[in-house]
Order: sequence, then structure tokens, then C-alpha cells
Amino acid sequence: MSAPQTAVDSRPALVLFSGGQDSTTCLAWALERHAHVETVGFDYGQRHSVELTQRRVVREQIAAAFPAWAPRLGPDHVLDLAVLGSISESALTQDRAIALQDNGLPNTFVPGRNLVFLTLAAALGYRRSIRLLVGGMCETDFSGYPDCRDATLQAQQRALALGLAEDVQILTPLMWRDKAQIWALAHELGGAALISLVVEHTHTCYLGNRETRYDWGYGCGTCPACELRSAGWTRWRAQTPATGDSKLSGT
Ligand code: ZN
Repeated sequence: MSAPQTAVDSRPALVLFSGGQDSTTCLAWALERHAHVETVGFDYGQRHSVELTQRRVVREQIAAAFPAWAPRLGPDHVLDLAVLGSISESALTQDRAIALQDNGLPNTFVPGRNLVFLTLAAALGYRRSIRLLVGGMCETDFSGYPDCRDATLQAQQRALALGLAEDVQILTPLMWRDKAQIWALAHELGGAALISLVVEHTHTCYLGNRETRYDWGYGCGTCPACELRSAGWTRWRAQTPATGDSKLSGT
């Protein structure tokens, strides 16, 4: 089931890693391609700390389950971004219901979040001699977040390369994949073992629910993030009925 081995790129990469499905798939993608991969996460006053806990678990599980990737997995960095929470009034950082706003964006949108994340990741990368940034931004299932658009990231890559006078590149392996294709990519990279790891340990639910277990993982099952993840799982499973992986057949 595994894809053909990709030639290993000696250039190090820094993955923006939240511990969710998308950034975990990006981490696997980077570990498959790059000889040295570091991770960076941001603590910006999320209203639950589940994802900050799960990102450590996911890193440990990846290192344990994939011996070829383990030696490539470098240090993790967590940057304190409380200031972002203090200037954002969004449903992710404040205790209110998730809903669509008048401008059509869900109120889970933290204005400028990815722009800030990428700028800080580039600054960290500069200090650590890493010029490749890997992010799970996706224009296909992007909830309408304008800072996930390819055009935004192309512009920011140019600004960072000019501003740091370095060949900074923002790699977005998920940009044109929907959630079903992201499950498929995880399977291509790490087979049933990676799917199982994503299901059991990554966290996507906006409400921080880890009590209810579905075939696609833990969550409330009804918030926009759970709905996307669950619908993607269902479509992927429908498209790949004969993977032969008994571990994937549900519980
Ligand atoms: Zn949820």
C-alpha cells in the first residue's frame, strides 16, 4: 500500500504542527521527504488545551510507529502567542457558539492567524537555518478562511523571502486536496498504521471533545471541523472499499 520511496531531500523543513489531522498528514509528508524535520506549535489561548496535549502524543506515536522517520524527527518548538488570543474575538478563543458571521466567515476565524504563524515560523526557521516551511493550509475545504488561500500564501512567501533576504519557501501539500484526499494521502504515506494514528491521536474538534469515539476519531461530531473530518472519512472509505486493511473497517 505504501507509495514508492521518495528521494530524501537534505534540506531541513519546519512543519506548522497543531496536532490535527491536516498538520499530522503534513508532518508525515515532510518526514517522508526531508532528512531533518522540526515542528512548531502556537499557544494562543485556544479555549481548550487538548490540541497542545495531543501534538506531543502524535509526535511520540509517529516516532514509535515509523522507525524510518524517527531519526529525521527533530525538536519541537511551542511559541507563546497569547497576544493573538487577546486581540481576537473568535469562537476558538472565547467561550461562545460557533456560527456564521454576517460576512460569510465562521466566527472560528482568528483574523490573520496564518499570516502571524508563518511569519513567526520563518523567524524561528531563520535562527535554525531552516528555509522550508510546511503548512496544512487548504483551499478546497478551507471554511472560507482567506489566509488559507494559495494566493495569500504565494504573496506571503514573497514577502518573507524579501524581508529575510533568504529563499524562504512555503510548502502546502494539502492545498488542492479535499478531506477525503487528505485521508488518502495519509494512507499513501503510512498505510493503515498512519490512519490508525490519525484516528486515535490527532485532534480536530473545535469543542475539544475527546470522549466520543467515531470511526474517524474523537470529537463532538457536529461542529464544522468534526463535520468536515467525518464527511471526508466517509467519502474516502466509500472510494476505497478494497484496501484490504482490516484495521480500517471500523469498530
Ligand atoms: Zn467537534
